[in-house]
Amino acid sequence: MPTRERRIPFNRPSVVGRELTYISQAIANDHASAGGPFTDRCVDLLRSHLDCADVLMTTSCTDALELAALLLDVGPGDTVVVPSFTFVSTALAFARNGATIRFADIEPTTLGMCPESLERLLDPSVRAVAPVHYGGVGCQIDEIHEVLDRHSSRTGQAVSIIEDNAHGLYGRIGDRELGTLGRMSTLSFHETKNFVCGEGGALVLNDPADRERAHTMLTKGTNRRQFMLGLVDKYTWVENGSSFGLSDLLAAYLLGQLERHDEVLATRSHVWARYDELLTPHQERCGFTTMSIPADRACAWHMYFVLLRDRNTRDGVLQALASRGITATFHYVPLHSSPGGLRCTDRPDAGCDVTDDISGRLLRLPFYNGLSDDDISYVCGALLDACSG
Ligand SMILES: *Cc1c(COP(=O)(O)O)cnc(C)c1O
Repeated sequence: MPTRERRIPFNRPSVVGRELTYISQAIANDHASAGGPFTDRCVDLLRSHLDCADVLMTTSCTDALELAALLLDVGPGDTVVVPSFTFVSTALAFARNGATIRFADIEPTTLGMCPESLERLLDPSVRAVAPVHYGGVGCQIDEIHEVLDRHSSRTGQAVSIIEDNAHGLYGRIGDRELGTLGRMSTLSFHETKNFVCGEGGALVLNDPADRERAHTMLTKGTNRRQFMLGLVDKYTWVENGSSFGLSDLLAAYLLGQLERHDEVLATRSHVWARYDELLTPHQERCGFTTMSIPADRACAWHMYFVLLRDRNTRDGVLQALASRGITATFHYVPLHSSPGGLRCTDRPDAGCDVTDDISGRLLRLPFYNGLSDDDISYVCGALLDACSG
């Protein structure tokens, strides 16, 4: 037992670069609203890294997904397939527009959407699919493309892929960046994610044909952007939309983080490797399985998790860690059987066995930039004690 009281939170956002300087500059700039100079700098940085058609900074990943739903015009009569094992927003953003949601199961290798499960849910009403790169590990997106291509050649109907890339910025499959593998993708800069600004997000466009309408929808359905670019002489309401834009104060905060992405990734990769080194040798003896990353994937280092034997063991270990000042968490409560999910699906009995199994056994360990080697050793010691007790 420790001789002093330790507290290790699950997450702790940190300042990594010039965030505070940039926020002061943003205030001095007299442009704290959306579409300011720091927003432009974040967009430039992300666009050149992702080599994509455009990036639109939004107030959250949820908002970016809502903007995607508007852009795709999904509504009543349309179906969107999402994994059951994800955060609420992946489904909610489409459900609130009136779309029907179908929940696909996940596969055990990456914990991303299972292509076979997706295939069973397809019919002509399906307009979009929103896979997640869980933990920053690329899902089986090539197989998902194959399933959708087969469906399209059979039905003549195109289905759009929106990658929910809330965990995966800077992750790759081979040399391809996560977030560039579908028609569009979304990012989160919520304080629990890898790069933060309190609350923030982005919509990444991979098809240049989506740009103009996306900008109109971002700016309350107006042609403000064309007006600012001098392309029209009046600025007026033209379309559906909302106030999706990120404040430039928050873009200033975010720029400070994104500029240091190499250091942040190195720090997080170190935390991940340290956990792995201390835990993997004890898997068999302690009856858990550690997180693994397929060889062709570059992880974005969003988290470290272990899979316990069963739900009771997991819940017991969570408590044992809590009693030693360590906050670990579960992930996710499956959406297919949630009250909200049942309200918007037409397949309430969709089997999501892997989701049910994983969600009952998964335990996420504290993971943040400032987590020291000593803290990691303490967490691992407590976990090993709890599992061998
Ligand atoms: C965090 C998260 C979101 C929501 O992000 P916000 O920026 O908080 O709206 C959506 N999807 C996934 C997979 C997430 O982890």
